[in-house]
Amino acid sequence: MEKMVYFFGEGKAEGNQKLKDLLGGKGANLAEMTNLGLAVPPGFTITTEVCTFYYQGKNSYPPGLDVEVDRAMKRLESIMGRRFADRENPLLVSVRSGARVSMPGMMDTILNLGLNDETVEGLARQAKDPRFAYDAYRRFIQMYAEVVMGVSSHHFESLLDQAKRRQGVESDAELKVEELKKLVAEYKSSVQRESGKAFPVEPGAQLWGAIGAVFGSWGSARAASYRRIHKIPEDWGTAVNVQTMVFGNMGDDCATGVAFTRDPSTGERKFFGEFLPNAQGEDVVAGIRTPMPINQESATPGNQLATMEQLFPDTYAELVRLYQLLEKHYKDMQDIEFTVQQKKLFLLQTRTGKRTPSAAVRIAVDMVNENLITKDIAISRVTPTQIEQLLHPRLDPRVEKKVVTKGLPASPGAASGEVVFSSEEAENYRKAGKAAVLVRHETSPEDITGMDAAQGVLTALGGMTSHAAVVARGMGKPCVAGCGAISIDYKKQLFTVNGVTVRKGETLTIDGSTGEVILGFVPTINSQVDQYFTEFMRWVDEKRGLGIRANAETPNDVKVARQFGAEGVGLCRTEHMFFEESRITAVREMILAETRERRETALNKIFPMQKDDFLAIFREMRGYPVTIRLLDPPLHEFLPKTEAELLELARLENTSVEAIAAKVKSLHEFNPMLGHRGCRLGVSYPEIYEMQVRAIMEAAGELIRDEDFQIEPEIMVPFIGALEEFQLLKADITKVCDQVLNKLQLKFTYRIGTMIEIPRAALIAESLAKEAEFFSFGTNDLTQMTLGLSRDDAGSFLPRYLEKGIYRQDPFVSLDQEGVGELIRIACERGRRGNGSLKIGICGEQGGDTSTIEFCHRLGFNYVSCSPFRVPVARLAAAQAALKSSSLN
Ligand code: ADP
Ligand code: MG
Ligand code: MG
Repeated sequence: MEKMVYFFGEGKAEGNQKLKDLLGGKGANLAEMTNLGLAVPPGFTITTEVCTFYYQGKNSYPPGLDVEVDRAMKRLESIMGRRFADRENPLLVSVRSGARVSMPGMMDTILNLGLNDETVEGLARQAKDPRFAYDAYRRFIQMYAEVVMGVSSHHFESLLDQAKRRQGVESDAELKVEELKKLVAEYKSSVQRESGKAFPVEPGAQLWGAIGAVFGSWGSARAASYRRIHKIPEDWGTAVNVQTMVFGNMGDDCATGVAFTRDPSTGERKFFGEFLPNAQGEDVVAGIRTPMPINQESATPGNQLATMEQLFPDTYAELVRLYQLLEKHYKDMQDIEFTVQQKKLFLLQTRTGKRTPSAAVRIAVDMVNENLITKDIAISRVTPTQIEQLLHPRLDPRVEKKVVTKGLPASPGAASGEVVFSSEEAENYRKAGKAAVLVRHETSPEDITGMDAAQGVLTALGGMTSHAAVVARGMGKPCVAGCGAISIDYKKQLFTVNGVTVRKGETLTIDGSTGEVILGFVPTINSQVDQYFTEFMRWVDEKRGLGIRANAETPNDVKVARQFGAEGVGLCRTEHMFFEESRITAVREMILAETRERRETALNKIFPMQKDDFLAIFREMRGYPVTIRLLDPPLHEFLPKTEAELLELARLENTSVEAIAAKVKSLHEFNPMLGHRGCRLGVSYPEIYEMQVRAIMEAAGELIRDEDFQIEPEIMVPFIGALEEFQLLKADITKVCDQVLNKLQLKFTYRIGTMIEIPRAALIAESLAKEAEFFSFGTNDLTQMTLGLSRDDAGSFLPRYLEKGIYRQDPFVSLDQEGVGELIRIACERGRRGNGSLKIGICGEQGGDTSTIEFCHRLGFNYVSCSPFRVPVARLAAAQAALKSSSLN
């Protein structure tokens, strides 16, 4: 370690903006502002390397640190013309933590350090204001005792209350100096009592105590869990900033405040901020006094408070000059902390300002139009998560809410409705035009229509990858899952949670972005797709190379997908079309048929319905490709489950309940579902696929013939594990296609391809690709089979695995790792070797995941396909992947 302390002051700093890793965000920016010639109180930064050393070396400092700190303190003293610990003219400092990224959970700032019974008198003489000096002193004791010595603040607060009562005053500011002196003495004895130690009187000891507390706070449980959640490495460490105090609380010509260079909630280009006259440090955010707007633009409607612009016109004008300068310099919206001491403005911090998703988009677009940043930078400044949040309705933040419990934020967005406990009820609500929230232990495939009918879904069991979570995300429906605190009684049609009982028909609100469950109705505000969003997404589309398609099977989903910018359907599942009430009977008849003839009779009933489906989907996707997957799930999924349903089916089929139950049992498969499903059904019962292919080709043909469409249907065979399967089915499919083309007297291109979802398919990709025109990675099954792990395993009954990080947090989202990602890489390589013009895509939930999209971009995929609601997210992720790889080259 060459240098442990970086000085800033007198227009020059040893550090700069680029040294964030070493000086932390705050330290690097204090240095940068100093170099820009702005009024920053001088000080110095102790590097993050010292912090790292401190932890590696069992809480000791590197040799020589004390010498460097002493030298920096001397330099501060000479610049300021004051001396630390001097009883006549004392120098006071603040001690501030500052990691690379701002990190709640770390040490709070200590202000006014250097005060004791003697220096406080010096400060009183300096300021010609004893009241101010003793007020600073009592604040310092409280902050130091709290932060460094671990004494709880309530001891001080109750002493302060007693003092005010003794004096018969309302506010702290009205306390007389004599009373403050008494309070100081009481604070000190309270420290002694609570901590068993005397309050350190020697400023040098105070300084090192505070420095130690900053480094110590990096290791605190709070900070550690924050790092875990936000994936911040342990070895980054924090820096410590020691800075000369300036005072915003020296009288009515002083103030402190916070400002944003643009409106952080709308992104509007206006200077926005709050301040408090005669106040110190955190008073603005602490909520003790109501802050005042810095200008009329920042005022809420009907504001009666004076503004900084009115009270301090010259200082305000200077602040305006500086904010413009800072924004130009940093080329991003800044969040600025300032203090005014006797009308003179000081800057204490600047950093990239946090903003809402819609503000992020607007600021990025505006800054490009202002020639401040390039489109590439604009694209990189908005996160895919922000786009996701932008598109979902949110709870109105101005409305108070009664949160009863919290579950997992399984699918973003907010919803209110009356509580129902069954999918049937949810559908009744929809028919009656009423909003429902579906509450279940967990959901199953039969609940799909109920989930679709409800505004949102709440489950007691299951994790982020449970059925409810996955399906809800796919639908873009808000969902809170795994809400262990609720206990449901289906019989009584109620649930209880933390002592509250909620009955069917009572109104409930869920927030799938936070996991909150809220009693009663909370209004939502709609996602804003405005001109900024539209322009931003246009730039995004110019940048990306990867195509974005949607997984969609109903005409409505397909329509939504188009509106969100999908360039085709990557996965149209045909089985969902079978579930509909009017069709399921014919489907069951088909399944239970014992002869080919009876099966064909049933299939003939289904055929026109399937054809209508495809007609509608092709129409919605006019001009874009549609990949249709032939029937995939095991047949038991279509058979009844309840006693009543069994009876009804037995009656219709003229057979016994036992016979039906036996059939259901014989067909049943477990997760991960292997066995008799996918193309294996196609091999066993060729007439099923024949019917589907005929429906696809006739629908496409009629549109081409009658409505002047361009369509090249893509027929996808699921679950291929052997070359011979594909060859056999391809021959069947081609035969039907030729028949239809002949019948219609037409010629148009169609493609036959396969899903790669059985690991072996990836391995035989070269020979498969000689036969197949496209591959689509079905990563849901591929993941389950590669890992030998089902979604439910990962989500619920493997807590110890999650705890230990085995299979990582969510193996179904992270492809870019050994195993699944490796198989995909192999399949791409071998597939392209077999067929140079092979089209490659991905469907499955991972298709919408940011890191997966980057992975697919690197492997040169043609497209990714995801749920309609994720299409804009995927568009941005694809553009960012393109940016990233071009910056690597
Ligand atoms: P945070 O990281 O929580 O924002 P800071 O270190 O920025 O903490 O300190 C919080 C507030 O304390 C600052 O906004 C500023 O008002 C005040 N402050 C910090 N250092 C000084 C100083 N040297 N002089 C005056 N006020 C200070
Ligand atoms: Mg700050
Ligand atoms: Mg599959």
